Amino acid sequence: MKIPFNKSYVTKKDVENVKVSMIKESLEGGEKRSSNRCIEYIEKNFSVNCCLLTTSCTSALDLSALILQLKPGDEIIMPSYTFVSTANAFVLRGCKPVFVDIGSDDLNLNMDLVEEAITKKTKALVVVHYAGIACEMSKAIEICKKHNLFLIEDAAQAIGSKYKDKFLGSLGDLGTLSFHGTKNITCGEGGALLINKNKYLEKARIIFHKGTNRHNFATGKASKYNWRNVGSSFTLSNFSASLLIMQLKNHENINKERLKIWVKYNNFFSSLKDFQNKYRLLKIPSYATHNGHLFSLIFRSKKIADNFSKLMRSEGYEVSKHYVALHSSPYGKKVSKTFGNLLNTKEAEDCSVRIPLWPGIKPDKMLEFSSKIIKQI
Ligand SMILES: *Cc1c(COP(=O)(O)O)cnc(C)c1O
Repeated sequence: MKIPFNKSYVTKKDVENVKVSMIKESLEGGEKRSSNRCIEYIEKNFSVNCCLLTTSCTSALDLSALILQLKPGDEIIMPSYTFVSTANAFVLRGCKPVFVDIGSDDLNLNMDLVEEAITKKTKALVVVHYAGIACEMSKAIEICKKHNLFLIEDAAQAIGSKYKDKFLGSLGDLGTLSFHGTKNITCGEGGALLINKNKYLEKARIIFHKGTNRHNFATGKASKYNWRNVGSSFTLSNFSASLLIMQLKNHENINKERLKIWVKYNNFFSSLKDFQNKYRLLKIPSYATHNGHLFSLIFRSKKIADNFSKLMRSEGYEVSKHYVALHSSPYGKKVSKTFGNLLNTKEAEDCSVRIPLWPGIKPDKMLEFSSKIIKQI
């Protein structure tokens, strides 16, 4: 590949810190120096009440479903255009995902459809901030208040992004972040659960600590700890946290760098002549400040999208489609329910293509080539 789809931004300083921490600190998770620094950084910088570092965003979502005590038969409203983990966390508890369509402008959940999808069984709304672009959170919050639903934000792609003046992940009852290698900042595999309401704290900590009150023991509030509830192993290792703290401290620069490239792409592709015949671009709502997580072209047809992808790849530019809609996947068909026709979801699955975007990319030749083939396809 001339240009890979993604490259993590890891500096020599990051590596140096990992080396030193490996020798001076414990490797396992818990109340260790690097882990504590990450937690403090996230809580302070993103105005979060309490942060738990997890092995992934997937495990933070699993943890959410356990904390909220969701039960078999409960219905959970969410988009179908998302990663499997958004749905799996709830299906693991026997819940039924109810898939609602996305809007065509930003590929985020269409909040105007959500209320109609609510039934007596609905217990929670999960919003996914696609591409690090905020969902319409005031509407989501209002709906959840009115119908007494839990609100969970899957902010896996959205570190540092905002809805108005609030950081994504800090607005729902619970929020989740991802530090997977494909995200803006990374420690290989990692994530965080953001707990924005005190009433969930005690239960959350017990489930997080393998079902024990180890938190009270570690903070001197109990002389020993024992089994209190169901739980499992969710903790990020301190070894991973020693990379994560460096990435966190650099997150504004990394986001800024990505955003610069994003703006360059956006200017380039919106100024190509007659481009409306071939594709459109994501529209950023005025309430959203995003982090340049990804850039996609949404082509007029699947055929044009597939052609574009094939030609770009044959030239060494690793473009990538995104989600296969969950409602039409083999397992999704068995365990979920759909609301309405999900036409925008289908369109996003068929027609959207993401192009390489990472700090340090030299995209001029790729852009030139892409404009050439867009004229042909
Ligand atoms: C990446 C991603 C996840 C999963 O994150 P992991 O840290 O890999 O578990 C979940 N939801 C969305 C929307 C994602 O983009």
